[in-house]
Amino acid sequence: MSPDRFCLPPMTDTRPAKPTVASTLACKYALLPEGWASDVCISIDKQGDIVEVEANCRPLPSNALAGYLLPGIPNLHSHAHQRAIVGLTEKPGTNADSFWTWRNLMYRCLEHLTPDHMLSIASMAYLEMLKSGYTSVAEFQYVHHDHHGSAYDNVAEMSLQTIRAANDTGIAITILPVLYCYSGFGDQPPLPEQRRFICNIDQFADIFQNLSTAICNDRNASIGIAPHSLRAVNFIDLRNTLVNCATTAARPIHIHIAEQLAEVNACMHQFGLAPISWLRENFDLDTNWCLVHATHASLVEIESIAKCGAVVGLCPTTEANLGDGIPDLASLIEHNGRIGIGSDSQCTIDPVEEMRWLEYGQRLKRLTRNVFATEPSKSTGREVFDRVTMGGAQACGRQSGRIAQGYRADFLVVDTNHPRLFGRIADDFLDSWIFSTSANLVRHVFVGGKQIIRDYRHPGETKINARFQESMLDLMDHL
Ligand SMILES: [Zn+2]
Repeated sequence: MSPDRFCLPPMTDTRPAKPTVASTLACKYALLPEGWASDVCISIDKQGDIVEVEANCRPLPSNALAGYLLPGIPNLHSHAHQRAIVGLTEKPGTNADSFWTWRNLMYRCLEHLTPDHMLSIASMAYLEMLKSGYTSVAEFQYVHHDHHGSAYDNVAEMSLQTIRAANDTGIAITILPVLYCYSGFGDQPPLPEQRRFICNIDQFADIFQNLSTAICNDRNASIGIAPHSLRAVNFIDLRNTLVNCATTAARPIHIHIAEQLAEVNACMHQFGLAPISWLRENFDLDTNWCLVHATHASLVEIESIAKCGAVVGLCPTTEANLGDGIPDLASLIEHNGRIGIGSDSQCTIDPVEEMRWLEYGQRLKRLTRNVFATEPSKSTGREVFDRVTMGGAQACGRQSGRIAQGYRADFLVVDTNHPRLFGRIADDFLDSWIFSTSANLVRHVFVGGKQIIRDYRHPGETKINARFQESMLDLMDHL
């Protein structure tokens, strides 16, 4: 089959040479690529891109926002439907509890999940993301089929519901349909409870095509691909899918890798190589790739990831909740590796907590402090924030993560009118926000120039809450 069957050509940029300003935004303080600035005015075109950024605009307009304006935070790894089971797996099982016992409950939830549930649960997850400062999400979506494992009339039905949830709430989305073929290394046949995920590469190509068509005119949506893991795809399927879907245009390619020791050991047994080494050996990793977790990586593997420019997708609260382990981020940072954060299982949805635990995990592992701070001009919180916004944007394939001309107008505003932030400026403000607050202080959020959260509120949240409650009451009867 021709690659053209699967992939739409890149969208033509039809913007005029000199974009006209559709809106402006002013803020007392902002974090720009060159550093902290005050009295900042930003011009935005009608497509939601930044046209111009000017500091020291005096006097500021009377409607200027108080607080600190920051680049929006990308969430590079989400399974929206897992929002339904948060908090339900914290009881000891009869055997040793592990990631695999958690997975059993997730599978039970899937026995009953409908497209309507998916819409209401994803809407709730995305609302929580927006309210906490995430402005975009990479949705790693593997629930494709109905309860019997049969394709819906539209084979991409479940993923389309997550796109609809993103549109309804206003978060930017990178939809990552998941290729999931086997239950384990050596092409082991799928388990009955995996029937809703399983597809061959032709069916996957149809899902990819339908999703590509659905988003082609949406500046806040894009598409990539997600081979689930090395245990769920084989070399030939992965190679063919990359050829079919990721060569005619640069697209994000996300994969779970080296999350669990059991998976690493099974890969060693099958191939004689650990997962990251096997992937590096067989595929040309580059800046399109996002290696999700990479928890159990050798120093050689860490160096090779850093060298190829791939992003490591870290989800500290989920990795802690599932007992995955703590990755050696200090070595990754030493080699200038790229990182981003994700809410993954949605056990909490809070980028501040993820950023805090990125650093805290390394302190506990290394018995030292300020691991992320590698240059005297930047504090630890600033280093974490800069890396997470830039790496996350790369992984989402979105031109964001900087408040600068040509970038998407994705911002958040942190409310400094809180005792924990009184008197804090610049990097001290960022450190105090990340390491010393627990209340949500994200007051405003903008996506593509449009204000989505105003004074902590989303206009649709009453409706989203009600629909989510209905779905949860329905699902809890079966869990
Ligand atoms: Zn995941």
